[in-house]
Amino acid sequence: MGRQPADIGMHISEVDTPALILDLDRFEANLAHLQDLTRASGVRLRPHAKTHKSSRIARLQMEAGAVGVCCQKVSEAEAMVDGGVTDVFVSNEVVGPRKLRRLAALAGRCRLAVAVDALDNVVELAAAVAEAGTQLDVLVERDVGSARCGVRDSAAALALAQAIAAHDQLHFRGLHAYYGGAQHIHDYRERRAAIMGAAEQVRETVEVLEHAGLPVEIVTGAGTGSFPFEIETGLYNEIQAGSYLFMDRSYAAIEDREGRKTSEFAQSLFILATVMSRPEPDLAVVDAGLKAFSTDSGLPLVSDDEAMVLKRISDEHATISLPSGSSLALGQKIRLTPGHCDPTINMHEWYVCIRNDVVVDLWAIDARGAFF
Ligand SMILES: *Cc1c(COP(=O)(O)O)cnc(C)c1O
Repeated sequence: MGRQPADIGMHISEVDTPALILDLDRFEANLAHLQDLTRASGVRLRPHAKTHKSSRIARLQMEAGAVGVCCQKVSEAEAMVDGGVTDVFVSNEVVGPRKLRRLAALAGRCRLAVAVDALDNVVELAAAVAEAGTQLDVLVERDVGSARCGVRDSAAALALAQAIAAHDQLHFRGLHAYYGGAQHIHDYRERRAAIMGAAEQVRETVEVLEHAGLPVEIVTGAGTGSFPFEIETGLYNEIQAGSYLFMDRSYAAIEDREGRKTSEFAQSLFILATVMSRPEPDLAVVDAGLKAFSTDSGLPLVSDDEAMVLKRISDEHATISLPSGSSLALGQKIRLTPGHCDPTINMHEWYVCIRNDVVVDLWAIDARGAFF
């Protein structure tokens, strides 16, 4: 972490590239906006830290009122706790003795919860916390449409909740029901219908569990594309959105109730790149490629001038076609809007924080690479 792409006080034009730029005014507005919305709706906010990978940002979220954060991996959770975070939900299954030993040990350093979807995993978890002498909250993951992890029906959820409740050091707390596949459905009504369908499944499972005498204190899920609908169900009491802080090109493509591609959250995250070659009049090559941004959700957009279009990318280059007569010069810097924020952030070590085009801070992405 010794090398940094910028110094505090620099103008953005002096920042070394490629760099991950965070517009702090927009970032702070996004952070406050979701906190205000959830507070007004009476639901808790537990933002997903897999997006930002920064214990500093997690602490800012908690200072604003978040109850804790979600993590996807044990090492990510360890990085958050090392950075001072006191309450983490690993919203994912943790399997295998080495990971479980680390998880059980971490439970001695913070309030910790984990998701499960298999009886064998409950047995493994119980053994790990027994050996470590710690306590762990456990949520049953209910699949609600993604067809990934998660039990597929209420009977399986009940069997798991009973198995959890049978162990002194495991505490059944509720259901984790995140519908990732619904987040980027472009059409507003279809997106809403997907979450309403998910909520029906969750409602049935809650009834089965409570009928069996197992109180469901927490129903958690939701992302940036769907959280208003989870709130609307009246069933979810914890919201896990992550991308709302930064936004990206794929979230910019989803529609609001009126069919407009506008969002209540502002694009705050950019890749800064430098023109390193102008080999043809209508072509520029910049110094940011596959190692500076992810392309799983499409190529970045040139935020400063949408008439410039990324055409080809390789490890360290992006080739951009320019409108004819473009005066874009060698050494000039341009900002790109990433296609997908989470995997893009995971490639960088620093957020270069700017206000009014001046670098005001550098924040370490301390859980970068912590995906094990
Ligand atoms: C990624 C993720 C989120 C957050 O989704 P965004 O689209 O980034 O808001 C929430 N919950 C889980 C389980 C996730 O994996």
